[in-house]
Amino acid sequence: MVSILRDLGLMSKLLYHDLAQKFNYSYEEKGLVIYCKKQSTLDEEAHVAQLANQIGIEAKVLDKKAVLDLVTKIHPKGAAAVYFPGDAHLNPTELIESLKKYLLEKGVLIKNSSELLSIQSAGDEITSLEIQSNGQKETIEVGRLVLAASSWSGILAKIFRIKLPMQAGKGYSVSKSQFPSKEIFKPNILVETRVAITPMSGKFVRFGGTMEIGGLDSTINMNRVRGIIKSVPDFFPVNTFDLPKKEEVCYGFRSRSPDGLPYIGQSNYFRNFVINTGHAIMGISLAPASGKLIAQQLLDKKN
Ligand SMILES: Cc1cc2nc3c(=O)[nH]c(=O)nc-3n(C[C@H](O)[C@H](O)[C@H](O)COP(=O)(O)OP(=O)(O)OC[C@H]3O[C@@H](n4cnc5c(N)ncnc54)[C@H](O)[C@@H]3O)c2cc1C
Repeated sequence: MVSILRDLGLMSKLLYHDLAQKFNYSYEEKGLVIYCKKQSTLDEEAHVAQLANQIGIEAKVLDKKAVLDLVTKIHPKGAAAVYFPGDAHLNPTELIESLKKYLLEKGVLIKNSSELLSIQSAGDEITSLEIQSNGQKETIEVGRLVLAASSWSGILAKIFRIKLPMQAGKGYSVSKSQFPSKEIFKPNILVETRVAITPMSGKFVRFGGTMEIGGLDSTINMNRVRGIIKSVPDFFPVNTFDLPKKEEVCYGFRSRSPDGLPYIGQSNYFRNFVINTGHAIMGISLAPASGKLIAQQLLDKKN
């Protein structure tokens, strides 16, 4: 399982790297730092680093001095860190906007706010879909079809006569342009509180975290957001910011399969239907490689 995710991740990184020039999204290869406040957590993460090295992913333990040299000018309170130099990050909003622009230029029709209601089939082929947009029903002819509805895929799968166990894990993020990002050079995960701090190409810093298992409930739990914000000065002694307004908080669902692996592949019933979903906390990281696999399957190509 670990080596499948590693290979998808490495392939995705190469694709993101190459596409960044063409699509003009900010993409940075600055590594990832896992901060540990307690020595016991650092010991566990050091063990993870050892396992990572065994499967060819570079990871090293940084002492406090190395953290100050390499990662931040703010003296962190933690015991030290584990560093993954090969990690990369990008701005997801810029990525999606640039992909959307490209697709529209190529003549692709994007239907927003449209709900799939049912499918029609003939033999082993899906022939059309019934969708609803702004209360209006519409039938769309189908050539090939991909189910990529993340946390909603389990519900939608029933329409395709398949069972796809899926659990949604809600997470929140807040972005701040005033945070002293120049003093934090690399993306971090504050491991004890599971909060990610990501400086986005000098423009803003994103704070994200939590894994709320409560179905597809879209209410924003400000106690969870408070937990994210409060954990920052526990690691970095900086003047932090106030609790944001609800409107400033973003949330999303991570789609989780029972074994943590994504569902990628051909349906048993329909030969023009494939599934690409369940990427959990790695949906952006694994998207290009899983998209490529699915495209090859649909186009019936081997390379
Ligand atoms: C706080 C947070 C931090 C994260 N950090 C990372 C990270 O560091 N790295 C990483 O790789 N990933 C991360 N993720 C996960 C990543 O964001 C997701 O895996 C990714 O966005 C999933 O994309 P998707 O296109 O598969 O699904 P989504 O973006 O969820 O899209 C699914 C779509 O299906 C649509 N849909 C639902 N029902 C229907 C219907 N009946 N008919 C038609 N359409 C329907 C929905 O409206 C939605 O637009 C994070 C997620 C969160 C919440």
